Amino acid sequence: MGQEHRYRKDETQPISSPVETSRIGADHGVPIAFRNVTKRFGAFTALDGFSMTIERGEFLTILGESGSGKSTILNALAGFVPIDSGEISIDGKAVHALPPEQRGVGMVFQNYSLFPHMNVADNVAFPLRMRGVQKREARRRSEEALDIVRLSGLGHRFPRELSGGQQQRVAVARAISFHPPVLLMDEPLGALDLKLREALQFEIKQIQRRLGCTVVYVTHDQREAMALSDRIVVLRSGRIEQLGSSADLYDKPRTKFVADFIGQTNVIPATRSGRQVILDHLGLIITPPSITGGDDPLFLNLRPEKLTARRAEGQEVEFPATVQETVFLGDTISVSAMTPSGIAIYFRQPRHAASGLSPGDAIWLSFDPSDAVLVVDVP
Ligand code: ADP
Ligand code: MG
Repeated sequence: MGQEHRYRKDETQPISSPVETSRIGADHGVPIAFRNVTKRFGAFTALDGFSMTIERGEFLTILGESGSGKSTILNALAGFVPIDSGEISIDGKAVHALPPEQRGVGMVFQNYSLFPHMNVADNVAFPLRMRGVQKREARRRSEEALDIVRLSGLGHRFPRELSGGQQQRVAVARAISFHPPVLLMDEPLGALDLKLREALQFEIKQIQRRLGCTVVYVTHDQREAMALSDRIVVLRSGRIEQLGSSADLYDKPRTKFVADFIGQTNVIPATRSGRQVILDHLGLIITPPSITGGDDPLFLNLRPEKLTARRAEGQEVEFPATVQETVFLGDTISVSAMTPSGIAIYFRQPRHAASGLSPGDAIWLSFDPSDAVLVVDVP
């Protein structure tokens, strides 16, 4: 290996320097496809005609609330859960009837699932030994994988002798030791504290960049999903609510559910009259750039950072409100305000712009109608 220069001294820094682009292992993510996959547990339908394709080398995150079916998708892809109907293919080959070890898939579980009676090196070498790799070569690749997750030299330790973050790294090393073209991760950072989680998010991105594998990542944390992913699929009760890039989901949510789920926002009841949208709660009629939806209930999605507060009226599109609370966030100040009609509105201002606001202040909030997105509320 001889690549000590790759690592920084500071543990919280990303594992690779920006110039480190050499790839090892699979060097080839493979595409994945789900076609109309249904999975039932007794009378309960966990996956309901789930279809999507994941591109070669993509970082795809499945984001959803607890119980929405995220783990079922990963387990079906890995081969731990049989599906009732539909098709799953990896690199163009149907795999849904194959056993897990023939799918070319590495998996990291939420609870690490390390073997407590094996030391770290043996844990990481386990998938290699299972695949018939000779001892020496297995040891070499085990060391290589531990090097990638920055645990070189800890191979002799037992899982109980490691911190939670280190155990999680071992689980990642074990999942990548046999160079799988597909890496699956089921809420791998769920048990760690925020600071460590953020540091490991960078590492996971860098590991994927080095390995070139296709990653399917599961989380219920929308911030984590936005930080990591090329694309995110928002899952709701076993069905796809919306699929898109982080920016797509943030800027152009199609439903109230997605708008609420991704980032902080205001969803204001709206009614439509031709090209115009009537916002009774704000006492406004606006003409947004595009109008969506059929007969479903409509809402206007207005992100907190798209609102500007002023002390006096005078803007084209604005409404009055009273400041309720201000929350200091460092670079910005988050403010909650109440409209005369009694709905809460959240907005965020740069620190200097909001510094004078206090509870009880009368303000005017303005926005650009082109920043407002109409969303529907579908059951
Ligand atoms: P998530 O990972 O999004 O929290 P899961 O995929 O684990 O959700 O589960 C989806 C739904 O399927 C849940 O309602 C869960 O209770 C149910 N489920 C999952 N596995 C089983 C099982 N082995 N037997 C019965 N129900 C299950
Ligand atoms: Mg789960």
